[in-house]
Amino acid sequence: MEQTKIILDENEMPRQWYNILPDLSSPIEPPLDPRTWEPISPEALEPIFAKGLIKQEMSSERFIDIPEEILEIYKLWRPSPLYRAHRLEKLLKTPAKIYYKNEGVSPAGSHKTNTSIAQAYYNMKEGNERLTTETGAGQWGSALALACNYFDLECKVYMVRSSYYQKPYRKSLMTIWGGNVVPSPSSDTEFGRKIQKEQPDTPGSLGIAISEAVEDAIAHDSTKYSLGSVLNHVMLHQTVIGAECKKQLEQVETYPDIVIGCCGGGSNLAGISLEFIKDRLEGKNSPRVIAVEPSACPSLTKGEYRYDFGDTAEMTPLLKMYTLGHEHVPPAIHAGGLRYHGDSPIISKLCAEGLIEAVSYDQCPVFDAAIQFARTEGIVPAPESSHAIRCAIDEALKCKQTGEEKTILFNLSGHGHFDMSSYDKYFNKELT
Ligand SMILES: *Cc1c(COP(=O)(O)O)cnc(C)c1O
Repeated sequence: MEQTKIILDENEMPRQWYNILPDLSSPIEPPLDPRTWEPISPEALEPIFAKGLIKQEMSSERFIDIPEEILEIYKLWRPSPLYRAHRLEKLLKTPAKIYYKNEGVSPAGSHKTNTSIAQAYYNMKEGNERLTTETGAGQWGSALALACNYFDLECKVYMVRSSYYQKPYRKSLMTIWGGNVVPSPSSDTEFGRKIQKEQPDTPGSLGIAISEAVEDAIAHDSTKYSLGSVLNHVMLHQTVIGAECKKQLEQVETYPDIVIGCCGGGSNLAGISLEFIKDRLEGKNSPRVIAVEPSACPSLTKGEYRYDFGDTAEMTPLLKMYTLGHEHVPPAIHAGGLRYHGDSPIISKLCAEGLIEAVSYDQCPVFDAAIQFARTEGIVPAPESSHAIRCAIDEALKCKQTGEEKTILFNLSGHGHFDMSSYDKYFNKELT
């Protein structure tokens, strides 16, 4: 019988993160100071981030050891299973082999715990007592609340208003793990109060919530800010996903022709793909890597590659990335985790150099794919992850046309158990 679930032993877990920075064709453009537009010094980032994370952000070491305390927590759900989607393949009548990595098995239900645990750890090590952050759909907020709970840190989450009301149970989850959640724009920060006054009906945005969380971190002692995507150190922490995938695919003597991830800020895509891009840079293999975005927030497919702020209030350093502009407020689509105006500088550079391709899809075909997946593989996917599923299905259907037996790997970045109201809307034909 053909294998369905490919699992690794705990002791085969990767013990190092892979840092792609030294392998890039040229150094990544540095972050700029928001006041002077000059390259920012590591010290200037210290009011916002833990020093250990700033070091990783700019590191030129190819491999970075994962501290033992982090590995101990990773073991609660890692190594995560890799599945062969036999039933989906059958439904599609495709000769392609479809594999997916299930990051939905983490306690918070997504890949975001891979970095939240690491970020809370380095902050705890440096004596910080409180972390602030933003969250869109709530996955990042819950991942950080869980991590802060493990390392005895306080956690304050500014949750994008549209999601706060669309996804009340994500807020409950954060509260269970000890997080303090407010809808953003909130009345807890100067910037939040300003937006409340100027745009009383705004659905909120990640850009606004980031401004609030950064302002809070700067204003309070022993408090740092934590970001769930975009930054180099976040991409780094996620590389455990791809490293595990490689070993799992070796077990079944396969290597992917196509690697797919949905893309909001780029972290789950980086997680599954950077290990394979490394092979390509070393001339060993040449898998295609595809980033999948919602057409409502198409930063890679329609954005400009330039320096931009990470937030609405222009408080964060400027990053060279694909961006729709930091004032952009994307419509309140159901894949809240993909509603960010910018993208990871690493992913952006790889896109600009043609090492990553980008595609975008509307909500309805994405939900069609989610239902096909749920009815074959059983798992209810997050709307974000369903973008990757849509693309994997389309690539598998192309193989049906050409008769090619390609191996397709995609990242199932999270489960959709908190997205039932979005699924209800899909069935009631209320999706736009
Ligand atoms: C946050 C999130 C995303 C988008 O963020 P990336 O940094 O692009 O990975 C995708 N899927 C899930 C399940 C998420 O929680």
